[in-house]
Amino acid sequence: MKSRWSDEEASRCAGDLALRVYTSRLLGAEASLVLHGGGNTSVKSSVTNLFGEEESVIYVKGSGWDLETIEPAGFSPCRMQPLLAQSKLEKLSDPQMAAELRKSLTDVSAPSPSVEAILHAILPARFVDHTHADSILTMTNSPDGERRVRELFGDRLVYIPYVMPGFKLACLCAELYPAQARRHTVGMLLLKHGLFTFGETAKDSYERMIELVSLAEGYLAKRGASTQVSVELRKDPSTGSAARMLRADIAALRKAVSDTAGSPMILSVHTDAEALAFATRPDVREISQRGPATPDHVIRTKRVPLVGRDVAGYASDYQKYFQELGNASLTMLDPAPRVILDPELGMGTISRTAKDAAIVEDIYRHTMQIISDATVLGGWEALPAQDIFDVEYWDLEQAKVRKGGSPPVLTGEVALVTGAASGIGKACVASLLSRGAAVIALDRSATVCSLHRRKDYLGLTCDVTSESEMDGALEEGVRAFGGLDMLILNAGIFPPSAPVSALSSETWRETMSVNVDANLALLRKSYPLLKLSPRGGRVVIIGSKNVPAPGPGAAAYSASKAALQQLARVVALEWGGDRIRVNTIHPNAVFDTAIWTPEVLAARAASYGLTVEEYKTNNVLKVEVTSRDVAELAAELCGPVFAKTTGAQIPVDGGTVRVI
Ligand SMILES: [Zn+2]
Repeated sequence: MKSRWSDEEASRCAGDLALRVYTSRLLGAEASLVLHGGGNTSVKSSVTNLFGEEESVIYVKGSGWDLETIEPAGFSPCRMQPLLAQSKLEKLSDPQMAAELRKSLTDVSAPSPSVEAILHAILPARFVDHTHADSILTMTNSPDGERRVRELFGDRLVYIPYVMPGFKLACLCAELYPAQARRHTVGMLLLKHGLFTFGETAKDSYERMIELVSLAEGYLAKRGASTQVSVELRKDPSTGSAARMLRADIAALRKAVSDTAGSPMILSVHTDAEALAFATRPDVREISQRGPATPDHVIRTKRVPLVGRDVAGYASDYQKYFQELGNASLTMLDPAPRVILDPELGMGTISRTAKDAAIVEDIYRHTMQIISDATVLGGWEALPAQDIFDVEYWDLEQAKVRKGGSPPVLTGEVALVTGAASGIGKACVASLLSRGAAVIALDRSATVCSLHRRKDYLGLTCDVTSESEMDGALEEGVRAFGGLDMLILNAGIFPPSAPVSALSSETWRETMSVNVDANLALLRKSYPLLKLSPRGGRVVIIGSKNVPAPGPGAAAYSASKAALQQLARVVALEWGGDRIRVNTIHPNAVFDTAIWTPEVLAARAASYGLTVEEYKTNNVLKVEVTSRDVAELAAELCGPVFAKTTGAQIPVDGGTVRVI
């Protein structure tokens, strides 16, 4: 591991806290040191309070912040004195400790200090860095792990046996550190947990971390257990076992997981070489069931992955684990797996949101590597189940579970929108994302690919009149998110106006092919997936005012939308028994779409003898209807308000005299 320290960048940091932010980010940039909220850092400093007195404070990472992106506001300023006093207490429950830590803040609006704040405070050095480095975990979680690290690092480190993070760990370190520290001690190794380094300067503390971790990496490399060997495989974008369409299997697995979890979950499937290599190891059933690499991963990954697809079996094992290790005061978390290893699917990662499922992926990719490397060293050893359980059911975590709060209404669900690059389709994507859904967005235009850059958005170029392109898009979408709950059929064309006497058969057929045939094909292909939607599938069809009130010159368009409407009604009848709801929205004159350029708008308004403003609001309510108005209704139709509505046709048009 190379130091990322730059004298030039450091020289731009004014003061302790700025330097603390700088090297925290350097640590965070290294995925093999810390992952997603893991690790913590601090610096001791002093501030002048309101009364002009100097006060010793420690800036310690606030909970909820990630080292990779932390800012000065992510550090909690705690007064040193109460923290040191607390470390001398005989007993303090973790919720009490968390409350005391908040009381010690010099700024009440600061985030809650890391649960390791007391531990940081008792270490004498000014800068303290803590990571869960892969190479250190590989060494300590192998047979004779303690002997290995003691031999490698000698008395440069103090060695602390595993205890639960929080107050107990702080007390143990307060006792063992002064007793074991020597003149050249620069850090502390928490067995089966992680590494601390410290120094009087940000640079010393950081570079000691890099140096010690490099030593561990060298140790592993010499024994052929190097994490670097297959790291390059990680970002293989190909979908390895693409030979067979997996989407029906994946959706069935996600249904089972969601039913077990009690709410819809996102399942991301990774069939790359690295995932398949681990999932098909002959010993996978054995080595994957021993536990996580470091205890705090349990919150994201659960203690062990599901090997194979028996979700019910996993849930019953989880219940046993809870009954054996828990007690009556605890609330059991949902018993569904968060990681699945399957010889055909590779690795599946599960969470309530796509963003969190991606975090599970990152953590488990490192875990697979650490387990594989430790196996080369002689065997993978994890902490006993009780230790992992204690972190999983830690008071502080349980409190979060009880607080919960309700997530956005479509959280954990997956929507597919066609014609998503512009106009109503683009607005539907935004409305669905804002309600917590993951969205698969299809469009002929490649701009759909870069419409949003976030984990719950997958933009795919797709011509919906090509069945093979549609198959590819569905397969990719389901691999990304696990299934399909909502289908928004929006793609359509509006051919140039022509009277029936001059309407070419070619225009007629093309309009029917996009506006009817393509939707029929997509409905047919989506049916097996919608049937497996945990809450029941939903289809929303963007129809047109032209269905109830056609206009001259628009025969092909009006007929195609009417055919689509009739198709929707039959689908509503046929699929209701599968809990799939099918509803239609009839917009009229939505002007903020690509077709309505200012020139077209001005010309059309003039042809009616109206101003543009009059033309836009030429309806009963005298309001302008926007893409967003249509999209919000489409998203709402997918939600609980319309849970008992199917086969409906709803206008969004400001009121059209001919329709009313
Ligand atoms: Zn830690």
